[in-house]
Amino acid sequence: MEPMGTEAELAAIAGEVKACRLCPLARGRTMAVPGEGNPYSDVLMVGEGPGGREDATGRPFVGPAGQLLTELLRSVGWQRGDVFITNVVKCRPPGNRDPEPAEIGACASYLDRQELALDPAVIVTLGRFSLQRYLPGARIGEVHGSLRQSGGRFVFPMYHPAAALHQSSLRETLFRDVRGLPAALLAAREAIEAERTDVERGATAVSGASVAEAVTSAPQPRDDEQMTLF
Ligand code: URA
Ligand code: SF4
Repeated sequence: MEPMGTEAELAAIAGEVKACRLCPLARGRTMAVPGEGNPYSDVLMVGEGPGGREDATGRPFVGPAGQLLTELLRSVGWQRGDVFITNVVKCRPPGNRDPEPAEIGACASYLDRQELALDPAVIVTLGRFSLQRYLPGARIGEVHGSLRQSGGRFVFPMYHPAAALHQSSLRETLFRDVRGLPAALLAAREAIEAERTDVERGATAVSGASVAEAVTSAPQPRDDEQMTLF
């Protein structure tokens, strides 16, 4: 069988999510929220789960937390439509409670497949459930705003924008952290490219040191420079 293109694969996943009844969250939802954005983006942002406005519209991050996320992206010259945005669970937990481990587990294969289809250079985690998936055991207070590597992926953890709506000191932290995201993307791309080149040259293994070097020596984008995200 021909491998599906990224857009077709993402659309197929979205179709399955909309009809999904794999976990109890299906019962309480108005609309499932598969995710949206640029299918060719190098940046995948992963939140927790739909809230009220997301449930009503079927779109991720369109409520107050989403407004802040849009502002954060704009502060580094990016647009919502430049990235791909989704959540750990695709249906709203009743009363916006935390998603349960079984619900996260039931929903995980959709995110797995979105990740495979997009093959992003960087995954931005928003909040603790997303952080837990990509960097199990990591503490947000220690890792926020830094580029990490885990399971063959580059991960850039951030606080959840909703947290800053309740705790205003986090707002500043979020804006400071997001300023490092364009450079983190460049660093990740450089490391991925270096690894690919090494593989093509027939190198047996890429040392962690060469990745660390690429991460620290990546060029910083100039303020007046627009960076392409795909
Ligand atoms: N919070 C999330 O984690 N995801 C959304 O889509 C909206 C709010
Ligand atoms: Fe299916 Fe995920 Fe929705 Fe549960 S949360 S019903 S697994 S799409």
